[in-house]
Amino acid sequence: MIPFNKPFTTGNELIYIADAVALGKLSGNGKYTKLAQDFFEESIGIKKALLTTSCTDALEMCALLLDIQPGDEVIMPSFTFVSTANAFILRGAKIVFVDSRSDHPGMDESGIESLITQKTKAIVVVHYGGIACDMEKILSMASQHELAVVEDAAHSIGSTYSFSNGKRKHLGTIGHLCTYSFHETKNISSGEGGLLGINDERFSNRAEIIWEKGTNRTSFFRGEVDKYGWVDIGSSFLPSEVTAAFLWAQLEQLDKIQKKRIQIWERYWENLFGKVEEYGIKLPFIPGFATKNGNMFYLVAKSTAQRDYLLAELNAAGVLAVFHYQSLHQSAYFQMKHDGRVLPNADHYSDLLFRLPLYFDLDLDQVDDICEILIDRVKEFSKT
Ligand SMILES: *Cc1c(COP(=O)(O)O)cnc(C)c1O
Repeated sequence: MIPFNKPFTTGNELIYIADAVALGKLSGNGKYTKLAQDFFEESIGIKKALLTTSCTDALEMCALLLDIQPGDEVIMPSFTFVSTANAFILRGAKIVFVDSRSDHPGMDESGIESLITQKTKAIVVVHYGGIACDMEKILSMASQHELAVVEDAAHSIGSTYSFSNGKRKHLGTIGHLCTYSFHETKNISSGEGGLLGINDERFSNRAEIIWEKGTNRTSFFRGEVDKYGWVDIGSSFLPSEVTAAFLWAQLEQLDKIQKKRIQIWERYWENLFGKVEEYGIKLPFIPGFATKNGNMFYLVAKSTAQRDYLLAELNAAGVLAVFHYQSLHQSAYFQMKHDGRVLPNADHYSDLLFRLPLYFDLDLDQVDDICEILIDRVKEFSKT
C-alpha cells in the first residue's frame, strides 16, 4: 500500500523537544520560535516572520491586520483551500472569486482587474502547488488601485518568482503579507503549524500585538515598554515551543527534504512525459517566471469518467491517489453567496485534476511502479 502522504521526521524532532522541555519554557516565543523565525527572515528573505498555530490562523491575522470590515471585497482564486476564504469571511468580507488559468490551476491574473471595485481591499494570491502566480502583473494592479496583496504561500516554501528584470525572489517575500503552512501534508511540517510573514513594515507592530492576544507583551520582553497590557484586539496565534522545536528540526534539513521531493517530481515527469498525452492526460505546466518545489505532482484527466476510473484503479492497486480541490464557488457553503459568474477553468480542474503520492520517504522505484500501473490503466480505459 502506498499512501498519498506520509509525515516525515528527520530524527531530531524529539531531541529538540526534549531540549525545549529542559529549558523550562514551553509557551511560545522562546528559543525554537526565534530560530524558526530567524530562518525565514535570513534564508527566505521575509522582513518579519511570526510563527502561528496554522496557516489558517496566519490568514486570519492578515484579515485583522488589513482591518477588513463587513462589505469589504477580497479577490482570490476559487480553486484553493477553504481557509483562504474563511479567514476573510470571519470579518464579514465579500469574497470575489477569480477563475484559474487555462494552462495551470493557479489564479488567472488577467481576470483580476475587471473584478476590482471601490470596495475591494485586497487580492489574496495562492501559489498553487508551489508554482508562482505572475506577481509583477498582480503588484502593478494592486499599486494602481491601492490594494493589499496577501500571498497564501501554504504550498510554496523554497519556490521563487522571476521578475522581468531578472531579479528572483522567494514566494512569500513579494506581497505585503504572506502565510505559510506546516500542516503534515506540506513540504515542511510540525503536524499543525504556520507562519505569518510581514514584508510591509507598517504592519509589524500591530502584527505582534494581535499575535499576543492584543497585548504589547512582545515589546515588553524586548524592554521597549516597562509594563505590558491590553492595547488592541488579538487572539492566541502563537504556537508552543514544542511545535516550534519540531519545526526547527525540519527547517534545518529543508535542502535535503526539497531535493528529495523535487527528485520524486522529476521522476514522475520523466516516466509519464510522452506516454499519457495521447490519451488526453495533461502534465503540469510551469510558467517561465516560476520554479517548482516538489510540493505536489498533479495530472489533468481528459474526462471525469477517465479520472474516476484511474483513481479507482490506482486505489485498487494500493496506490492512494486523490483529487482536490472542489472549487469554493461551487461549495455547499458558498454557492448561494457566489455572484453567479461561471468560472470554467476552476470547474475544469475540480472535475479533472488528480494528485499522485508525493512524500519524502517515497522511493523512486515506487514512483516507477505507480507510473507503470497508471500508464497501463490509461491504456485500458482508452479501450472502453
Ligand atoms: C493547507 C492550506 C492552508 C491551510 O493550512 P493550515 O496550516 O492547515 O491551516 C491554506 N491555504 C492553502 C492553499 C493550503 O493548501
